[in-house]
Amino acid sequence: MKITFLGGAGMVTGSKYLVEDKGTKILVDCGLLQGDDSIAYHNWDQLPLDPSTVDALVITHGHIDHTGYIPLFVKNGFRGPIYCSHATKEVCAILLVDAGSLQEDRARNHHAAPLYTKDDALFALQFLKAVDYDEPITVKSLQVTLIRSGHIIGSAFVAISDGREKLLFSGDLGRPEQPILKAPPYIKEADYLVLESTYGNRVHEEDDPEKMLNDAINETVKRDGIVVIPSFSVMRTQTILYYLYQLREKKQIPDIPIFLDSPTGIAITNLFCKFTEEHTLPSDICSAIFNIATPTPTVQESKKIDRMTHSAIVIAGSGMAEGGRVPHHLEQFIIDPKNTILFVGYQSRSTRGRFLVDGAKEIQIYDKTYPVRATIKMIHSLSAHADEQEILTWLSHFEKVPKRVFLTHGEPASSQALKKMIEQRLKWDVLIPAYDQSFDLG
Ligand SMILES: [Zn+2]
Repeated sequence: MKITFLGGAGMVTGSKYLVEDKGTKILVDCGLLQGDDSIAYHNWDQLPLDPSTVDALVITHGHIDHTGYIPLFVKNGFRGPIYCSHATKEVCAILLVDAGSLQEDRARNHHAAPLYTKDDALFALQFLKAVDYDEPITVKSLQVTLIRSGHIIGSAFVAISDGREKLLFSGDLGRPEQPILKAPPYIKEADYLVLESTYGNRVHEEDDPEKMLNDAINETVKRDGIVVIPSFSVMRTQTILYYLYQLREKKQIPDIPIFLDSPTGIAITNLFCKFTEEHTLPSDICSAIFNIATPTPTVQESKKIDRMTHSAIVIAGSGMAEGGRVPHHLEQFIIDPKNTILFVGYQSRSTRGRFLVDGAKEIQIYDKTYPVRATIKMIHSLSAHADEQEILTWLSHFEKVPKRVFLTHGEPASSQALKKMIEQRLKWDVLIPAYDQSFDLG
């Protein structure tokens, strides 16, 4: 077997790993580069790979940095099966269509052609083929197995074997202790491991998200204010709803309206009660938990929220307050000191969310500048990625030392720190591949 790193090398987004063996070609993940224009621009670069020559795509999970290039890959000639778990197939059906619309919006704003359209995304969905966990599938000379992995709903490790060597992709590695998802299982052996390193140089803070949510809500209710929670639609939104359910059951927060104001968030939340084997929520109360919020799919319903005059909680996209419905709510609510804007995830550089958590006194929304008078808060501990210590603990359960670990999906400083740590603690062979670099395995 041979592996070539066509994305996710030296950076967090754009995961694409080509596995070749005796004329068989499999691309593991087909992610979009995400970030500011200087990064996203490179999605237009020609890949050193003709999509029509690839036998199959295999997808670890539904996040756009692992799937968002699929519509373009199909547009450019790929016609094979796209293997993924049952839940990932449905997550992709929601997120890729949304990504197509976002590409069209972005193109309109830049007066340019879109990278791909909503119709391209819809066309690509027909190639998705859901497979069961732990059931090997054969792609010419290679065997591929998905193993449930506990990063988001539907996420999987991908094992590829040529009959002699086993290559394992971690995808994104989930955390051992998380409120609603099963922990990632330990893997006992692989000859080669492609491991993510997003938080390879960090240990997550141990703040108590339920308590922070409780405090932010009660402080805001005392002022009769509104709590706006900009949230990511997959996992984070459902985790917040779970905590709100717990707080309300314990009567720690008052019975104020809660709105789930995100069409994508609503669609993904509905998948949770369908795929109950993916998480730890009892099926009989799954819908009770998610029914705690009133879904507001239409723009009219969303606009009504802005006319609320008493306390309410609004969960809306996007998580970094860049797009979706959050900017509209901020226009209304950020200027009033009785309100709270509560961020619940990592805020990338140059995003509106990052400016706000860094203490901006005013903020631009569309064409206008608004004074920041609302309280800005942030819960740090809700990451879906294992941190440095959690990665090392997961690795320590391998019973056979891999011949080599390839570190991907991390900024250079993060991958370097993790490389050093694995070399020192476990004495394993670790390599950080460069873009388009190939390695023979075996
Ligand atoms: Zn992910």
